[in-house]
Formats: sequence, structure tokens, C-alpha cells
Amino acid sequence: MIDLIDEIAALKKEKNATILAHYYQEGDIQELADFTGDSLKLARAATKVETPVIVFCGVHFMAETAKMLNPAKKVLLPDLQAGCSLAESCPAEKLRRFQVMLRENGRRFQTVTYINSTAAVKALSDWVVTSGNAEEIIRRVPADLEILFVPDRHLGQYLQEVTGRKMILWNGSCMVHEIFSVGDLLAQKKKMPGAITIAHPECPANIREHSDFVGGTEAMIRFVGEHQEPRDFLVATEANMMWQLESKHPRHRYHPVPGISCACNKCPHMARNTLEKVRDCLVLGKPEITWQPEFDRAREVVERSLLK
Ligand code: SF4
Repeated sequence: MIDLIDEIAALKKEKNATILAHYYQEGDIQELADFTGDSLKLARAATKVETPVIVFCGVHFMAETAKMLNPAKKVLLPDLQAGCSLAESCPAEKLRRFQVMLRENGRRFQTVTYINSTAAVKALSDWVVTSGNAEEIIRRVPADLEILFVPDRHLGQYLQEVTGRKMILWNGSCMVHEIFSVGDLLAQKKKMPGAITIAHPECPANIREHSDFVGGTEAMIRFVGEHQEPRDFLVATEANMMWQLESKHPRHRYHPVPGISCACNKCPHMARNTLEKVRDCLVLGKPEITWQPEFDRAREVVERSLLK
């Protein structure tokens, strides 16, 4: 493994590449990355990369966003099959038909789209949000318009609660956050009565309502950092987040909230990227995210929403 890490470091230099890694990647990948972050932080980091090559260790929609914001750069995704159940739950054509139907029925609305979506869906949107900036963007939508929020119904419900704006919710969800077991969470809380529960807003309401804090991954890191005394945290998000929390705030103890059928909850799409595939994509210069016609319009929406 040390050989492989050295090999990647040498290749990175030789190919003049920057490695970006999402917090849901395995710790060994996060460790060798130049930047780690949530979707918002990585999208912003992608605009500051100076090397001609970006290796994006995350899933397909994230690498697409990096390409959109850097048309002249070569963006590599270690495994092109690294998809996302949430992005797949909202096919662009289905969304387009739904928007047409709403307009034909006289509904006046803006489409607010979670970043976990394809470029074609972003191109059909007025705004793109992450869990880090969604509240702020939703407050920008004129009060006399309805909001169509896609694709995550749990995040949408949460945003309805915190902003007080009623929304038309698309019926999508993340396979990882959807399957946390509330029964196991309650059992864990009983065993550790002093523990603090933190949950991602992609979790269903029954998990959020038993949590002390709800926020995206960056917000979780900040929240945990505010506690000076060592504490136990029960963490309801993708289990690799534990690595990032342990690295940034090692004084605390972190316990993943189990899924319905597993002791911790990992994203199978993120897990497709491995150190071997990071090495191979640097050697081969592929798989590459190539420019698609819908990127032009999607880029406009992403820049307006995330970079301004
Ligand atoms: S954790 Fe969920 S939302 Fe994130 S990439 Fe995996 S399936 Fe998609």
C-alpha cells in the first residue's frame, strides 16, 4: 500500500495533476488528496486548481460539475460507473415533462435543484444548491413563486421546516441516508445517554427528529469542533465521514449510526473509487469527463448559485 501511495504521488507530479476527494471516500484516498470537502467546497476548490489535470475522487455528478467549471482542464474520474442513487432518481426527461405539466396548469415556480443531480437536470433548473447553501438560496426565490425542489424529498422536507417555504417535492432519496435504522439509533442513545447525535439533512424525518444537530458535512465538522471537552458523537451520514471527523477533531469519539442491514453505512458508488483506480487513471489519462452540450446551460446555473 505504501508503494501504491508513493506511485500515485510520483504520477501526480509527473502528470501535473490535482486530486480532489469527497468526505465519503475511504480515508486512504482522502489522505492523499490535495483538497477534501463536501460538494460545495469541492466545486469551489475546482475553480482554483492550477494544474491541467484534475482527478476527482467522488461520484459522476461531482466530476461533471468540476468539468463544467473548468472546461479547459482534463477531469478524470477513477471509475466512470461511480453514480448516485439520488441523481438517478430524477431523469432529466421526466423532470422536463413534470415542469411542462406544472406550467400548463398555471403554476408559477422556480426549480431548485440539489447538486446531487445530472448536468442535464441542472440545465433545467433555476438554482443549484448543496446542503451547505440551500437555506440561503431558497431565501432568494421570490415569495410570489412556488419552489419545485428536486431530487431529494428528505432534504426538501427539512428545508421546508427551516425556511417555512412550502415546496413541491420530487420523490427521490439517497440509498445511504434513507436506510438508517431509527430503532438502532434509539438503542445506541440509550446505551450512551451522554452522546450527541448529528445527522445529515438527507436523512428521513424520523432520524432527524431524534438528532441534536442536523447539517451537511462541513456544518458537522464545525459543530463538533465547537465542543472542547471530549464527547461521544453518534453520526448519521456516510460512514467514511468518521475518518474526516477523527482527523480534524481527534479528541472526540465517533460512532456511526447503523443502517437497517449493516453496522455502518457506506455508499457503494463512492466505494468504486480505489487507490488502484486512482493510480490507473493517472497512468492512462482516462476515464475522462468530456464536455456535453447541456454543460453550457448547467454551468451558468451552477456559477450563479455556488460561486456568486
Ligand atoms: S451517499 Fe447517497 S447522495 Fe451521496 S453519492 Fe452515495 S448515493 Fe449519492
